Amino acid sequence: MFDIGGNVLQKCNVCKNQFQWKELLFSIWASYKPIECNQCGKRHAINFVSKFIVSFLIIVPAVVFGLMIAPAQGLSKPVTFGLIVLMAFVISLFLPLFVKYEYKQR
Ligand SMILES: [Zn+2]
Repeated sequence: MFDIGGNVLQKCNVCKNQFQWKELLFSIWASYKPIECNQCGKRHAINFVSKFIVSFLIIVPAVVFGLMIAPAQGLSKPVTFGLIVLMAFVISLFLPLFVKYEYKQR
């Protein structure tokens, strides 16, 4: 999944154009909106495994924090909720490293 020392971020499957961090991030935020390569215009959709990884990386920390850490610290519900949103936001900034997009020919 990682290509250490090389380019960690996804490239266009067709023309090898490097996708931008923010393109990948905005796609995830827009609930996996397909990315159009800005060089060749081909649409890339996130693959199933990536969706699973993204959900996992967001939900697991949120559940652990919300059900175990926050009650143990005596945090109020609004504070807990705020921290979960903040945590999900921070985690999402790193998600472009984990996601994989595929060119779907139609
Ligand atoms: Zn391209």
